[in-house]
Amino acid sequence: MLGTLYLVSTPIGNLEDITYRAVRILSSVDLIAAEDTRTTKILLDRFSISKPMVSYHSFNERQRAPELINKLLAGQSVAVVSDAGTPGISDPAFFLVRAALEKAIPIVPIPGPAAFTTALVVSGLPTDRFVFEGFLPPKKGRKTKLESLRSESRTIILYESPHRVIRTLTDISTHWGGNRRVVVARELTKKFEEIVRGPVLSVLQEMSKKTPKGEYVLVIEGANVSKSI
Ligand code: SAM
Repeated sequence: MLGTLYLVSTPIGNLEDITYRAVRILSSVDLIAAEDTRTTKILLDRFSISKPMVSYHSFNERQRAPELINKLLAGQSVAVVSDAGTPGISDPAFFLVRAALEKAIPIVPIPGPAAFTTALVVSGLPTDRFVFEGFLPPKKGRKTKLESLRSESRTIILYESPHRVIRTLTDISTHWGGNRRVVVARELTKKFEEIVRGPVLSVLQEMSKKTPKGEYVLVIEGANVSKSI
């Protein structure tokens, strides 16, 4: 019999955000494929889960996926977890999901937190239609992407690192205008959670007061939204 591949969502900061089902699945599988085994060990220890782990990340996915597929074909159950949030959302899992589908291996998603939905719902920007773009390209294709999103009317969600967040907000101001409303959601569910809202130029001014630290989601109003609200 084929094993099952579980895509297990984990907290994006606050470990209390794990689900009962995630704990049960992580406690019952044969193997956990983790983006960073040290990070996942902290989570497993917190819930007294002891399971064999292998690393599965974007640099070894092509080599590791066939190994995991062989285990699944041999009947073992495997849980994939990323460092935070939902595997497959700006995180490895897609490659393994495709490989599992090719072999008709059952795949079960275990839903839970994702940083983009958490930021969207608190943003105050329209949630009925949105587009998630993950990380903007750092160099090649960045300008083209910014230009192609300029007239996007849905709410736009981006992930960003602390060392590029100011540059991305500056680019948004340059390409989409300084009055475009943005919501910067930092360190969601963690001790230093902070949400800054306003026109991008004012947000930049506010943020220039201290060095950016932590993890960021940018939620940006769609083109022409202010006029229609
Ligand atoms: N799989 C994750 C998810 O479901 O959201 C995303 C992983 S992606 C590699 C990491 C990025 O997600 C960070 O750079 C940041 O943009 C965002 N992120 C993750 N945790 C966050 C948090 N607690 N607060 C704000 N942003 C977060």
